Amino acid sequence: MKTLSTLTFTNSYCDLPDSLGTRVTPQPLDNPFLVHFNPLTAEKLELASITALEPTFVDIFSGKATLAGFSPLAMKYCGHQFGQYNPDLGDGRGLLLGEVITSAGAKWDLHLKGSGKTPYSRMGDGRAVLRSSIREYLASAAMEGLGISTTHALAIIGSETQVVREKIETAATLIRVAESHLRFGHFEYLFYSGQHVELQQLADYVIEQHFSELTTTSSSYAEMFKQICHRTATMIAAWQAVGFAHGVMNTDNMSILGLTFDYGPFGFIDDYDPHYICNHSDYSGRYAFDQQPSIALWNLSALGYALTSLINKTDIDHGLEHYQHQLQQQYSHNMRQKLGLTLTDDVDSILFSDLFQLLQHHHVDYTLFFRTLSYITVTDLPHSSSLFNELFQCTTELNKWLERYQQRVLLEPNDSQRLAIMQQHNPKYILRNYLTQQAIERAQQGDYKLIDKLMTVLARPFDEHEDAEILAQLPPHWGKHLEISCSS
Ligand code: AMP
Ligand code: MG
Repeated sequence: MKTLSTLTFTNSYCDLPDSLGTRVTPQPLDNPFLVHFNPLTAEKLELASITALEPTFVDIFSGKATLAGFSPLAMKYCGHQFGQYNPDLGDGRGLLLGEVITSAGAKWDLHLKGSGKTPYSRMGDGRAVLRSSIREYLASAAMEGLGISTTHALAIIGSETQVVREKIETAATLIRVAESHLRFGHFEYLFYSGQHVELQQLADYVIEQHFSELTTTSSSYAEMFKQICHRTATMIAAWQAVGFAHGVMNTDNMSILGLTFDYGPFGFIDDYDPHYICNHSDYSGRYAFDQQPSIALWNLSALGYALTSLINKTDIDHGLEHYQHQLQQQYSHNMRQKLGLTLTDDVDSILFSDLFQLLQHHHVDYTLFFRTLSYITVTDLPHSSSLFNELFQCTTELNKWLERYQQRVLLEPNDSQRLAIMQQHNPKYILRNYLTQQAIERAQQGDYKLIDKLMTVLARPFDEHEDAEILAQLPPHWGKHLEISCSS
């Protein structure tokens, strides 16, 4: 394990065309302090957790001090926001500090979010508030625990720097760690500004860094696009199965590695509602939960269009078709795991669609329904509706569905195997909005114990945590109607 000063850094982004970024020095926060540190992320970097206790850790990640290996860079990108092209984007409040190279040769970007103004800040102050930093910190840990590809967070630094939002809040920084911070919007920027040579250089860089099995020939650009389509499909299938809504699927928030990226007004579904809109500013429901698969396709089409100088139309269409195929396969696989089905049968699709209708009609908690079902043996299924009393006011329709599910489960070879699969794929713990809200309110008073607890539980959400039963309960009524908007 290493300390900050013994980490090995590289700065490969600085070798990209100059137009892709501007060197910027972070602006220090006032009286910074460590709010939370994630040892699981530190492990990825081979960084000893004890490092977080050294004063230099806070100094470095609050912008007061720097490290020899850093070369802070604000990246330029653009993107489609709510369907409209915006040429005026970029890292407006974050900086890539450098890339850590591990002893096994893995590369991790260190990105400091909330580090002050950059040339791309527009009217913004370049800051992130404690509230939004905690949201991203918890969400990325929750997604990792669920096995969903995501960026990570190493730590949150709080401060006494005041910033104006709807009210006065304090600024914080989040140290984001990811295999890449490249977005669809980086390619869109180079395409729409006519920088075709630079666009090819960026594609070569992506292939070299992340898809090194492809050699850089003309067909490898098509293959790169197909890989991006594949990873995006896998990510979206995982979101849909677990009930995660991102909230701002603008193309500048889409990762070229299919990582869940740029957590803002995200939400995990409580009561099942396919039309769930977690972003209070999303008036038309463009990014509603059930729109995510088609929005990702829209975003991939926008990326494909931006790559037309490198890839022919047929290959772009192939990539997009591959997205749809992979999404369907992966989603069906994920949902079958949720119901513990290892075989396929003609009745399966109707069994699923009737279940979704049932859950929607009765406003049933999505997570608790599947978790409860994961413990009922095949013989008990038709008599088990009392176990769902908390979730259904009337169980007549549920009983009918349970009987049909029993008939289907009888075709499966092994009931204990079914239950084991279900318990491994239906989390007991998810990051409910109200839990995030409580963690934020307590942290604003200097109490980080709920963050500690959530981080422990969310790292292993499929396990039982006897001292944390309360975190697995139904949300209170007020907790289902929290309003979260875009950036903060
Ligand atoms: P987001 O909604 O976080 O994806 O941000 C959209 C764009 O606005 C990005 O280019 C951000 O860098 C920029 N941005 C968001 N908040 C701020 C802020 N407080 N100061 C400067 N730029 C910001
Ligand atoms: Mg963003």
